[in-house]
Amino acid sequence: MSAQDPGVARGDASPAGAVLELRGIRKSFGHQPVLRGIDLTLHPHEVIAVIGASGSGKSTLLKTVNLLEGIDDGQILVKGDDISDPRIDVDAARAKIGVVFQQFNLFPHLSVIDNVTLALRKVHGVPRAEAEETGHRLLERIGLGQFATAYPDRLSGGQQQRVAIVRAIAHTPELILLDEVTSALDPQLVGEVLDLVTELKEQGATILMTTHEMSFARHVADRIVFLHRGEIVEQGAPADLLDSPQHPALQEFLARVA
Ligand code: ADP
Ligand code: MG
Repeated sequence: MSAQDPGVARGDASPAGAVLELRGIRKSFGHQPVLRGIDLTLHPHEVIAVIGASGSGKSTLLKTVNLLEGIDDGQILVKGDDISDPRIDVDAARAKIGVVFQQFNLFPHLSVIDNVTLALRKVHGVPRAEAEETGHRLLERIGLGQFATAYPDRLSGGQQQRVAIVRAIAHTPELILLDEVTSALDPQLVGEVLDLVTELKEQGATILMTTHEMSFARHVADRIVFLHRGEIVEQGAPADLLDSPQHPALQEFLARVA
């Protein structure tokens, strides 16, 4: 894909202009604190991988950014706009973000092209012909143009996730959230999805992702953040963090997943 293609927002030209700024995010489920004061800034074109044990709060963190979970305290700024303000227009805030979760991303009763274009048409008001042109172009780019009129169950899990990813970027979001996008896939299908994420990064996308693929995090992320019991206890460049972990919880985690 070229820089002009739909799908990847080029971000803010100003280095100071963060795409995402999380300030003191706190979230509990009942009496259980799940996010305990998260501060995190993503700059344009930056890719951050959040790693951590199951239950450490990774998915909840991404859901708060997409306003799928409310927060108890803190602020979420997207391109400087406080989207955690209760008066915010939720649809307008979400329009700046593209999201892909672990599984069940596509609507089974809609064709592939309708899956890709539905939000473009219904949420973003793009006329059908234009939305379909964008959709077909994106499907061609990922080599799935011939599946446009097929239903998702005709596709492999890896193909479905790639469709889910191009659907998430079809409206050229400022920020892409990817939550364990490969963890439901058979091992031989993981690579094609990771390659697409790598391609998005090369085009300049700004991505906040969670993954348990440490070698992928090492190669694609600019920064890795380790979440432990709802807190960022260590972060840094991938090689530093993965090869010389300082925090005992990170040392233990890496020893387990290695
Ligand atoms: P991770 O993605 O790192 O595995 P999650 O963010 O899914 O962690 O979960 C963090 C903690 O919050 C877990 O203890 C989980 O059981 C709990 N949790 C997540 N979602 C809910 C929910 N909707 N209601 C109650 N507890 C939840
Ligand atoms: Mg999770």
